[in-house]
Amino acid sequence: MAGAEPTTTGPSAAGPSAAGPTAADIASLRAALNGHLLVEAGDMAPFLVDYRRRWTGRAIGVAEPRSVAEVQAAVRWCALHGVPVVPQGGNTGLSGGSVPDASGRALLLSLRRLDRVRNVDPSSQTLTVDAGVTLQRAQEVAEEAGLLLPLSLAAEGSCTIGGNLATNAGGTQVLRFGNARDLCLGLEVVTADGELWDGLRSLRKDNTGYDLRDLYIGSEGTLGIITAAVLKLSPRPRAKLAALVAVPTPAAALSLLGLAQAQLGSMLTAFELVSDTCLTLVLRHVPGTRAPLEPRPPWMLLVEISSSSDEEAAQAALEALLGEALEREYCSDAVVSGSGAQFEAFWSLREHISDAQASEGATIKHDISMPVSAVPGFIETMGTELARDYPSLQQVVFGHLGDGNLHYNLSPPADGSLDKPAFLALEPVLNRRVHDAVAARRGSISAEHGLGVLRSAEAARYKSPVERALLRSVKEALDPRGLLNPGKMFASPEDSNP
Ligand SMILES: Cc1cc2nc3c(=O)[nH]c(=O)nc-3n(C[C@H](O)[C@H](O)[C@H](O)COP(=O)(O)OP(=O)(O)OC[C@H]3O[C@@H](n4cnc5c(N)ncnc54)[C@H](O)[C@@H]3O)c2cc1C
Repeated sequence: MAGAEPTTTGPSAAGPSAAGPTAADIASLRAALNGHLLVEAGDMAPFLVDYRRRWTGRAIGVAEPRSVAEVQAAVRWCALHGVPVVPQGGNTGLSGGSVPDASGRALLLSLRRLDRVRNVDPSSQTLTVDAGVTLQRAQEVAEEAGLLLPLSLAAEGSCTIGGNLATNAGGTQVLRFGNARDLCLGLEVVTADGELWDGLRSLRKDNTGYDLRDLYIGSEGTLGIITAAVLKLSPRPRAKLAALVAVPTPAAALSLLGLAQAQLGSMLTAFELVSDTCLTLVLRHVPGTRAPLEPRPPWMLLVEISSSSDEEAAQAALEALLGEALEREYCSDAVVSGSGAQFEAFWSLREHISDAQASEGATIKHDISMPVSAVPGFIETMGTELARDYPSLQQVVFGHLGDGNLHYNLSPPADGSLDKPAFLALEPVLNRRVHDAVAARRGSISAEHGLGVLRSAEAARYKSPVERALLRSVKEALDPRGLLNPGKMFASPEDSNP
């Protein structure tokens, strides 16, 4: 598997079945799963390649449990036979965490069929769902109950609640509601030896020891299999508006953010920064799109506000903000959504950036975060340096400015002057440049996409020996034989590029 890192707490200590399971063993797994097991290459293929088609693995089978008992049975079988388990939800992860390595020794455990909505409690404002429920379905169920599940990302039609929690997903409303961790009150988890931890509590307050829920959230399938979650809902806003705003620089955008936070308070739901290069790619590759602001500014903001009062009040608040921002020269132009369709069209421009970049050719992506105040300086310095050293590369910079999270991406030259292998050969050195600059600002090299195999070695490089030792002791305590998603998240700094 390209990019796979060696397993450091690997299955070598597994013992009894180091030679691999026999046909009789596989038959016992099939029986334990009540037949919900795929072993034909053609059936397994879609599960064994990641969303970006960057990592392809092999597996002894793909388990598709329909119940928690079947998940437990599969994990117990793996523990008995020393077989690694790779959990997978919607397989939309961007760091290669959801596919096995090329050894062919692992069982792929797809949670997608575990998809019951267990309970909606409007009084407690909670929703309890199986791990395989898609984010979109969970949003719809909340909506039917007159409430809001405020987690939103472009992959919501396919990604699952289990995957969202295993990666601690972010998305577009973190500024107002927090990330997946902030929206989870309780978890149910199958442990490495197949036991069930019932932590499905819906408590807002619970100080009774270490928070196991917080350990499992963001653990990318390396500590346990999430089978269900209690999610925190919010009242549905009565009005939602979006504005596209022309800003001259990221520094001006930051000033506008401060003004918006001061004037709008909790009405401010999203604050997204988009460079004109991103818009160019969207206009080039996504049919039916057009530039919303003329003349085209170098940077554009997508500002969303939501309000529990009526639409006029929301509109007045947004227009007052934009009026003052224009006066202070933080922005030069703005357009406010005049209908639901226009609101969707504004967001569609933002949400199509990744696909448009993929249509442009190979991509080099950096999902980074830093203190919000450091973002303009980072963009300015890094942008100038990369333009000087790699003048033909397209800098595709966008992100959640309100969270200090940038997608600092690069595309090959638009004129086709660099072929894919030559472009991708630059990746290690570009990663080092970008990530060293992030580390210098006490930032993170993976803000919302997790480490998977993509960033595990680099993360080891940027974390201190003390932090690495603490993390490893957690892994060894909860998965002593290293059977849960081996090779993900943990690697040694020596494996890091260049
Ligand atoms: C177009 C697009 C836009 C995206 N936008 C965003 C964004 O704005 N913000 C963001 O944060 N992410 C984004 N992502 C990344 C991705 O959608 C999220 O990481 C999502 O949370 C993954 O969910 P999934 O169900 O697809 O998980 P998968 O991809 O299947 O798995 C991801 C990781 O979680 C583990 N895992 C999955 N299910 C379980 C489980 N039940 N128990 C234990 N471990 C499990 C896997 O082993 C793997 O390590 C985007 C992806 C795409 C394709």
